[in-house]
Order: sequence, then C-alpha cells, then structure tokens
Amino acid sequence: MKILVPVKRVLDYNVKPRVKADGTGVDLANVKMSMNPFDEIAVEEAIRLKEKGVATEVIAVSVGETKAQETLRTALAMGADRAILVVSDDKVEPLGVAKILKAIADEEQPGLVILGKQAIDDDNNQTGQMLAALTGWGQGTFASKVEIEGDHVKVTREVDGGLETVSLKLPAIVTTDLRLNEPRYASLPNIMKAKSKPLAQKTAADYGVDIAPRLTTLKVVEPAKRSAGIKVADVDELVGKIKAMGIAG
Ligand code: AMP
Repeated sequence: MKILVPVKRVLDYNVKPRVKADGTGVDLANVKMSMNPFDEIAVEEAIRLKEKGVATEVIAVSVGETKAQETLRTALAMGADRAILVVSDDKVEPLGVAKILKAIADEEQPGLVILGKQAIDDDNNQTGQMLAALTGWGQGTFASKVEIEGDHVKVTREVDGGLETVSLKLPAIVTTDLRLNEPRYASLPNIMKAKSKPLAQKTAADYGVDIAPRLTTLKVVEPAKRSAGIKVADVDELVGKIKAMGIAG
C-alpha cells in the first residue's frame, strides 16, 4: 500500500507573523519557513506504518514555490521514499490543492492519504475534507490513533469532550491531530541520503487542474494590542474588580 502525504511549507511556528503595511497579507520576506507541524506528524505516521510493514511506499507531495523542495527534502530525510513538487508561484487555495491531490491520487492509487488537520498559516482546515469529497473516499479527521485492520483503517478522533472511533474502508483520508505521535528528527546521514531520493517537479497544468483562486482576501490586520495589566493589592480587590467587570458573582 502506498501512502500519500501532502506537506505544506509555512511560516515557522516560532516566528511571530508580521502583517504587510498595505494589509494584503503576512510578510514572508526573510522569515524562517518550515514544514507545517501537523504535516510532520502525518509524515511520521506514514513512516511508522511503513516500518510496521503495512505500507510499502511513502510519497510526500507539496504544492507551492520552488523553495517547497526544502520541505519535501525534510520529509525525505525523515523517511519518505520519494516526493512530488507541484510548482505554483501564486498562493493555491485548499480547493486547488485538493484538486491536485485528487489527480495525484488517481495516478498513484494510494491506500491512504494522511494530511495535517490544518495548515498553521491560513488555518483553513479544509483540504483533507475537500479531497475526501472529490475522491468519494471516507475521512477520519483529527486523528489521535490510526490502526490498519485488513482493508479498513480504524481512526480514533479527537472530538469535543472525548474520543470517537471510526472504521473506514481503504482507500481513505486521514488528517492528523497533535497527539497522534511525536515526529522524529532527521539524522544527518538521512539528510544526506535524502538529497539523492527522487523529487519530481510538476505543474497544475500537467494534471489538467484549474487552480485559479475563488476567494479574494479583503484585508489582513494584526490582532488588537492587549492593554497593559494593573497590580492589585490583595485578593479582595481582585474579586471586586472582576465583579465590576461582570465576569463573576
Ligand atoms: P488547510 O486545509 O489549508 O488547513 O491544510 C490542511 C492540510 O492540507 C495541511 O496540513 C497539508 O497536509 C495539506 N495542504 C494544504 N495546503 C497544501 C499545499 N500547498 N501543499 C501540500 N499540502 C497542503
């Protein structure tokens, strides 16, 4: 069974985003970029399934600028077998990415596609669900446990106030939540080895997919600045202030 793992190159989670002066988006010039953290978890899960002998090949896919090659090399260094970069200099919306992934799934016939539950740059949480709709495959989103059982996958999902377990017939779509696993660091020898693993470069046109944007971003603004706190003398004063704000009591 092949596993397809889509990985997105995003602003590193440690970097505080700066909004461009003209309010058109986040300034990505000269900032550290990394693999979306949920996608690292997806790569890790796919590699573990390969190590268990359940999967035969792990294919990492990224849609984005040529620099997304670095993100794919990271996936290869972690243990993916080969990679596909679909180059686009323009931002591709989740629907566009899902259409590309559908075309790749048609070509590669994976048993499982493991995506992150969301990309931390746009917080869309849409691509996996859209891919499930386009392929007609079952989806297990926000997975905290993934177990292959014959021609089914059992997915434990993190839902409000508890866990839900679903069984999906393969091929299926899984999206990862934070507690699924702890991704490994790529070792230096594996980083070196990854340099010679196959990385195919494609365009959306190669897959006959229209990725023209459907959305227009009207404005991006920084979060409101927090007002300064004040010191209170004792608990009574604190409780008094909370009551005055109408929060308690
Ligand atoms: P989103 O729906 O944008 O929050 O993204 C959810 C997941 O879809 C991500 O964690 C990735 O696994 C995948 N994904 C989204 N955009 C891309 C992209 N440009 N290239 C590869 N994978 C992507």
